[in-house]
Amino acid sequence: MKQFDMIIIGGGSAGLSAAYRIARAGRRVALIDKGPVGGLCSLAGCNPKKVLVRASEVLETVRHAAEHGVITGDVTIDWERVWRRKHSFTDPVPDSTEKSLANAGVERVRGVAHFVDEQTVAVGGEEFRADGFVIATGSHPRRLDVPGADLLKISDDALELQSPPKRMVIVGAGVIAAQVTSVTSDGDSYRVEFTREGATDVRDADFVLNAAGRVPAIEELDLPKAKVQTTLRGVVVDKFLRSQTNPRVFAGGDAHGARQLSPVSSYEGRVIAQNFLQGDVREVDYATVPQSIFTTPPLASVGLTETIAKEKHQVEVRASDMTRWLLYSIAGEPVARAKIVIDSGTGRILGAQLFGVTASENIHLFALAIQFGVTVEHLKEMVYAYPTFASTIQSLLA
Ligand SMILES: Cc1cc2nc3c(=O)[nH]c(=O)nc-3n(C[C@H](O)[C@H](O)[C@H](O)COP(=O)(O)OP(=O)(O)OC[C@H]3O[C@@H](n4cnc5c(N)ncnc54)[C@H](O)[C@@H]3O)c2cc1C
Repeated sequence: MKQFDMIIIGGGSAGLSAAYRIARAGRRVALIDKGPVGGLCSLAGCNPKKVLVRASEVLETVRHAAEHGVITGDVTIDWERVWRRKHSFTDPVPDSTEKSLANAGVERVRGVAHFVDEQTVAVGGEEFRADGFVIATGSHPRRLDVPGADLLKISDDALELQSPPKRMVIVGAGVIAAQVTSVTSDGDSYRVEFTREGATDVRDADFVLNAAGRVPAIEELDLPKAKVQTTLRGVVVDKFLRSQTNPRVFAGGDAHGARQLSPVSSYEGRVIAQNFLQGDVREVDYATVPQSIFTTPPLASVGLTETIAKEKHQVEVRASDMTRWLLYSIAGEPVARAKIVIDSGTGRILGAQLFGVTASENIHLFALAIQFGVTVEHLKEMVYAYPTFASTIQSLLA
């Protein structure tokens, strides 16, 4: 039986960031993955989505070109080209990741991993032992418990579309309180039946997307054999990302379900590597993790909202609709709003919520401020390049 210092199950953001660090420290590392390595974010999440979002942003810009005195003809999206462009970024990922793993000296094992006991995993009949394990198996879409659930498509399918469906139903967008009761298909189109405020309704569609959230992908691992405690939210870990019921086992990324974000998964991989190599020295801290919803325009947030902040702090809020401010008007942006939550005693930034074209970039200024205790006075005193959207923050805080 092969013996390693560390066995990592899952070659996505969390597993890879742990694998490289532990291997670099000279430990024997194996990485098991049943599919192509590289992870959801690179293959069917953040990056391919960004290609599509960018195409829609460019379309939007061109459609409003005349406002800026730029005259264009008819514009349209060539979906097949967008699809090919997306693949130019996703296709090379598995091979380049395999090479990086080989260069780092990580042994790659292909197949589905499951635990045999507290210190052993098996892949296709072969068993492997290790001093430590990282469960980094990610997540999968939540299965809906309704007749016809198998007919629902998932985000992977949506990202593979080569032409847009004429009619689409999204289940789980979280906007309208409606409950899907069944999905049927005649082969060409779909019928979604749902109830809303007690009444039954139906919608016909060409594509029905299951967007009802993702759950940790841990079913195949046979975790009871490893004595690793789980809940519906995933593997239960302490602040060092270690299972308390089996301290050999760590979990990171979507498999333990704290945030379901790629940079958080990578960060957790780094925390795990450090705690494995040096003993439990680093606690996870999510206080300054920025989040962005990549709508057009995007919505971003970090730290505390006004309501949460008021539970513990004396709070001062700077909120503004900046849509008609000079720089946003010049840019022809349809919306720009911001809300900054400040501790009125210390002047420290507690949280920020931004909505507008640069929201997902500018939010990092506030993440940095929260992390390093930068005050509102510091942000006001700073000299900003002009005319930049970042410079509007100074005016907002003035
Ligand atoms: C459509 C979409 C868009 C997204 N956009 C963003 C975004 O813009 N920004 C952002 O931060 N996050 C985004 N996310 C979330 C982000 O992709 C995930 O949070 C992140 O990729 C999770 O990384 P991970 O390492 O936990 O798991 P993954 O990257 O999913 O890796 C898990 C790996 O484990 C393997 N595996 C699973 N079970 C087993 C087993 N039993 N044996 C062997 N191997 C196994 C899988 O094959 C897989 O390769 C998006 C997600 C989706 C679906």
